[in-house]
Parts: sequence; structure tokens; C-alpha cells
Amino acid sequence: MYPSFYDANEIALSEVTDVVYEKIAENNINVINISASETDSDIANINKRVIVFNPNFDTTFSVPFRLAHEMSHVLYGSRSKTYTFSPLSKSTEEIEANLNGIQILADIFFGDYYSATQRWEHRYRFIELFDLQPITHLVERCL
Ligand SMILES: [Zn+2]
Repeated sequence: MYPSFYDANEIALSEVTDVVYEKIAENNINVINISASETDSDIANINKRVIVFNPNFDTTFSVPFRLAHEMSHVLYGSRSKTYTFSPLSKSTEEIEANLNGIQILADIFFGDYYSATQRWEHRYRFIELFDLQPITHLVERCL
């Protein structure tokens, strides 16, 4: 029996999330889960190489994208800075973290198996799976 499309998506999401966590660990970054209020966004502290993840945070973006976005701040952001999750901000640093976060997810999701043309053809499945609709234009810059 074939899994339904919904099940296939759930499996893909959970597998990609696992790989994101592995990459975070490989880069010596710690993730701390703190259940705070729904208005408290995720935070990246670059000096401490810590991502503070709030599972209660009210956002439409997927968990793996939130993690990949914060990981990008730690890897590429300016030292001594602390970032709060604000992917719709127009600041250069937020756009960079979005682009790098999308690239991390795309490289995991598509792997070497998909050509650039195939990545482009499957972009809407990618956008839907990771809830990236508000930043579709950035996904289209990456793929
Ligand atoms: Zn950010």
C-alpha cells in the first residue's frame, strides 16, 4: 500500500528536519527549546552559537525553515549580534538568512538527485512542504 501524499509529506518533513539538526550539531551550534509565549520569536545568539527555539511561537513558517534560518545567522551573521526570527523583515541580514536557509533546505530536500531544471519544476512542492509561500520570490532566486 502506498502512503498517501499527506503521509509522504510528513515523512519528508521529518527526515529533512533530522538532517537540519545534524548539520546544526556538526557546526557546533546548540539548540535550546524554551516554551515561551506565542509572541516570543526564535533567537540566534552568534557569540554563544546558540539557537533558542520556541515551539509555541506563532508563525506560519515550518520548523525546519526556522532552524535553517537561525543556523544561517550563526554561520554567516555578524559576530556579537543576536537575531530574532523576522523573515519578512526587509533588512539585508534577514534576506541573507532566508536565502541561506532556503539553500540549506533545498540541498537536503533535492540532494544531488535533482538537476537545476527539476528543482525549478518542483519548486511549488518545495514551497508548500516548508511553508515558504510568503518568500516565494526568494525561493525562486535560489532554485
Ligand atoms: Zn533572522
